[in-house]
Amino acid sequence: MQIHANNKEILKGKTTDIYFHRTEEILKKEKKNPNVTAEVCVKKFPDKYKWAIFTGLSELVELFKGKEIDIKALPEGSVFFEREPVLTIKGKYLDFAKFETPLLGYICQASGISTKAARCKIEAGERTVLSFGARRMHPAITPVIDRYAYFGGVDGVSAVLSAEKLKLEPKGTIPHAVILIIGDTVKAAIAYDKTIAKGIPRTILVDTFSDEKTESLRLAENLQDKVDSIRVDTPSSRRGNLQSIVRETREELNNRGFNNVGIFVSGGLDEYSLKELNPYCVGYGIGTSLSNAPTINFSLDIVEIESKLVSKKGKVAGEKEILECKRCGNRAIVFSKDIKKRCECGNEMKIITKMIMKNGKVIDAKEVDEIRNRVIKQLRFLDV
Ligand SMILES: [Zn+2]
Repeated sequence: MQIHANNKEILKGKTTDIYFHRTEEILKKEKKNPNVTAEVCVKKFPDKYKWAIFTGLSELVELFKGKEIDIKALPEGSVFFEREPVLTIKGKYLDFAKFETPLLGYICQASGISTKAARCKIEAGERTVLSFGARRMHPAITPVIDRYAYFGGVDGVSAVLSAEKLKLEPKGTIPHAVILIIGDTVKAAIAYDKTIAKGIPRTILVDTFSDEKTESLRLAENLQDKVDSIRVDTPSSRRGNLQSIVRETREELNNRGFNNVGIFVSGGLDEYSLKELNPYCVGYGIGTSLSNAPTINFSLDIVEIESKLVSKKGKVAGEKEILECKRCGNRAIVFSKDIKKRCECGNEMKIITKMIMKNGKVIDAKEVDEIRNRVIKQLRFLDV
């Protein structure tokens, strides 16, 4: 039984809200199908975010291939701010009316996940961040979640299909189940080392049966340089103060000369919990807060009909552009007919959106690495 929609159904408009189909019916009967300019932007970010990362564009354009549609947008992976028109779509209204629902769906969730991933990566700095959220969401969208987490800056993903699609090696450690069945952490670690291919890091869970510190020391003493890191995944009901557990484990390992054994933490982490763990950790597995990241709530609004300015209440009519000063990074939103603007610093400001699609043909497709690198480059200048 397959419940989730397939691409064919999405492209036919079958996942679209019924009111767009009714809109089509009415406008066809009234013989109205004007040329329209519509804009996509966000009024308010979730959770007091100051910025967000724009992703989902490469999936979105699939909706309009072969139609007489032009799309101008920020390159996928760009940082953007509230009220900026990140995407402008032009064409006959009936050519895109019924795609508003999936258009928004693609970018709202993708940008939500990429933004959360970027926020976590900023806090983690050089430490490894892995996307562990597959188990919290419908498996049909596992590769979607991991794709956008990877775009946002995580270093790896745990789900096999996600890694395959991103041309990465899947990353993971060892589950409690093996340790429970073998009956002892050290014995399980030895079995892991014996069976799993060389070159895959030996990161062993230390919270299955007893104290994290005691188990870490037993592991390090028994396996010596065969253990790369230990993983702490203690359930919150048994955690007390996670930072204290991790700090104590780090100090005890160091005291015995095991400075090279890293500590990897997972379980209920988000960008806010990383800061206090950073001094003791080499990496994190982040699950629910990535896969269930708050969506970035874009809306699509008509701003011109047959080149006449029109808009609904609360929205400014007229096509707009996002300008940026390459010297100081200042940004401004201006009307397209009025793009000559100087920055406060005296430098000329430039339009930063690009034509992505012309007459239903994609003219600016980007590769995975290009999108991710764009995000990584911008992270240096952002904070959470
Ligand atoms: Zn400037």
